[in-house]
Amino acid sequence: MKYSVLPISDPEVYEMVKGESIRESEGLELIPSENYVSEAVLEALGTLFTNKYAEGTPGRRYYGGQTYTDQIESLAINRAKALFGADHANVQPLSGAAANLCVYSAWLDVGDTVLAMDLGHGGHLTHGAPVTFAAKAFNFIRYKMKDIHTGEIDYDHLEALALEHKPKIILAGFSAYPRDLDYKRFVAIAEKIGAVAMADMAHIAGLIAAGVLANPLKAGFHVMTTTTHKTLRGPRGAMILSRGIAGNPLKAPEKTLANLPTLIDRAVFPGLQGGPHMHQIAAIAVALKEASTPAFQQYGADVVANAKQLAARLMEKGCELVTNGTSNHLIMLNTMASFGKNGAEIQELLESAGITLNKNAVPDDPLPPFKPSGVRLGTPAATSRGLKAAHMDQIADWIVALARQEAAPEDVRKLVRQMCLAHPTPSGLVERG
Ligand SMILES: *Cc1c(COP(=O)(O)O)cnc(C)c1O
Repeated sequence: MKYSVLPISDPEVYEMVKGESIRESEGLELIPSENYVSEAVLEALGTLFTNKYAEGTPGRRYYGGQTYTDQIESLAINRAKALFGADHANVQPLSGAAANLCVYSAWLDVGDTVLAMDLGHGGHLTHGAPVTFAAKAFNFIRYKMKDIHTGEIDYDHLEALALEHKPKIILAGFSAYPRDLDYKRFVAIAEKIGAVAMADMAHIAGLIAAGVLANPLKAGFHVMTTTTHKTLRGPRGAMILSRGIAGNPLKAPEKTLANLPTLIDRAVFPGLQGGPHMHQIAAIAVALKEASTPAFQQYGADVVANAKQLAARLMEKGCELVTNGTSNHLIMLNTMASFGKNGAEIQELLESAGITLNKNAVPDDPLPPFKPSGVRLGTPAATSRGLKAAHMDQIADWIVALARQEAAPEDVRKLVRQMCLAHPTPSGLVERG
């Protein structure tokens, strides 16, 4: 990417942008929630749509001058609906956390119950961690894996909890779970008690779009939230996809399943947000077009194939993985069991060799969150720069050699840099133009 004005008008900021571009170009990104956007997405993100207020929905705005904002938001909505087979899409949530809060506030009253995945077993903070506002407003109860060696969810217990507590929402979704879910089973349980079946697909939306993992909406889920910046490879942002047609969001509808799309639109605005970020929505539209191509389907397949290869090699080398492998893009490595080192130590050690991943609790972790027993790693970003199975073997070997202190970080760092420079990130280095 070339920048011509910023280096002159604000050299301080320009140097930081350049520094980050070098870090991204020369380092190996294994954080499974991160990715590299295309140059087209970056250009759309830098457009003057950032100048415009567009409160409301296309055709129903509060301010004038909406010719092109209406067009761009409608385009993003139509692409999202087509890609995920949804009847309705709201592309305005500013992030995944905001999208989840919007769905909660659309459907729940204060004090209502949500049944969600245990945070220690892979659920996300926004699924009712005690430190969140949602946990103060709503009552979260938890389901878990039945067996951490296979990763299978304990669906019988989930059903028993549902029948006992009558949650208004049953939430499927995760940020640290390496297996797929039985969406039909979730829907059957939700239907038994008249709950909304909600899927939070923030991590795997790109794999669903690519047709590599199952689509919860097609299995009968009522609503699906997702971020746009993880495997979907768009700008930071989020979407809420649902079944059914939205009515006029200016009028409060009754709380029925048929009215869910309208309730969602009203919860986003004016319920929780102000003006949507139209430059972000423009970039989401671009990313959604990219995600509907055969090249992206191949990308999704490669992400999972790479993760399986990385997992297999780590296990071959004697590492212990939660659920003994992966079916998606991410791997949970128990570093205490594998190397006798906690996740924070391993994170730091690998970072000094140019490899980025994150410390993470393992199921029912006896250690505290800042020094947990494991790390989480994944392949979405590495696959975006074209790395393949043989690279995964090499990366696994580096991780193990570093963790066992059989290789010096400075030496590995040079090799990591070499591999990365041979496989540039989509937008490459920032330069003066
Ligand atoms: C990342 C993530 C979120 C939060 O997204 P932000 O854009 O960081 O707010 C929500 N849910 C799940 C499952 C996630 O993985």
